[in-house]
Amino acid sequence: MEIVIASGKGGVGKSTITGSLISLLSKDFKLGAVDADAEAPNLHIIFNVREWEREEEFADAKTAEINDSCINCGLCDNVCVYEAIYIDGRRRIKQYLCEGCGACKAVCPVDAITISDAISGWLRTGKTKYGPLVSAELDVGKPNSGKLVTEEKKIAREWRDKGEIDHIIVDAAAGIGCQVISSVSGANLVLLVGEPTPSSLSDMKRMHGLAKHFGIETKMIINKYGLNEGYRGLEEFAKENNIEIIGRVPYDSSVPKALNSMMPLVEFDPDSKASKAIKEIADVVKGWL
Ligand code: SF4
Ligand code: SF4
Repeated sequence: MEIVIASGKGGVGKSTITGSLISLLSKDFKLGAVDADAEAPNLHIIFNVREWEREEEFADAKTAEINDSCINCGLCDNVCVYEAIYIDGRRRIKQYLCEGCGACKAVCPVDAITISDAISGWLRTGKTKYGPLVSAELDVGKPNSGKLVTEEKKIAREWRDKGEIDHIIVDAAAGIGCQVISSVSGANLVLLVGEPTPSSLSDMKRMHGLAKHFGIETKMIINKYGLNEGYRGLEEFAKENNIEIIGRVPYDSSVPKALNSMMPLVEFDPDSKASKAIKEIADVVKGWL
């Protein structure tokens, strides 16, 4: 199976739940983990990966450069909506602002501008005690097209095709942008993680709509349960849309301590309220694998 853990909203504790589920499930299954949050990857921190086995640059962006034949006419300044062109002795380009759109090259009268491939991020693979992990990291200011996540999943699927792993667990980024679309593409199931707040519900609805669009089944986990007593928004949404709630994880002060110790919560404090709830969720997931 390929299971995606997603939330729509950031900060609901998705990676905490993902890390603990992988820790528990890896005792019975050969798992491959995909950290699909290329803007803020953190599974390697929870899994205490200090060295990568493989690291390669990923070029998915374009960037402009101005060469010495520039006659300083200033035409390019007028068309760069990203304000990436500046003068320092001669005209130069701020690489972190340049989107590689080519507008400057189109207006340059002396062909002084070249557009070339630019490094947009890095793909990394490493070993953890729970199985292999593939992670990605976008460079600052580079566009998040989702291709980086597609490459990550390709690597994980190759592991599966070679029999190195049986199942893939994907920790998706927040939002419903390109990288999340890439995360859910081809998956069997999306586990929606939410916290009992209206903003989490609002973003979960969008995430659920995305999964539904792709025809992917969804289940729900309510994290930080009890933090907002009396709030029933997630439960009502689940009922209205026939989404099974497979667990309610209570708010637990052990969570930040586990993060600080770079350990999955279920290993840092196995007897905590949250760990016990996640173990029950893992038992449900085991039934699907
Ligand atoms: S390629 Fe586009 S973004 Fe980059 S400097 Fe030229 S006009 Fe600006
Ligand atoms: S349009 Fe070409 S020649 Fe004119 S300032 Fe820009 S780079 Fe230089």
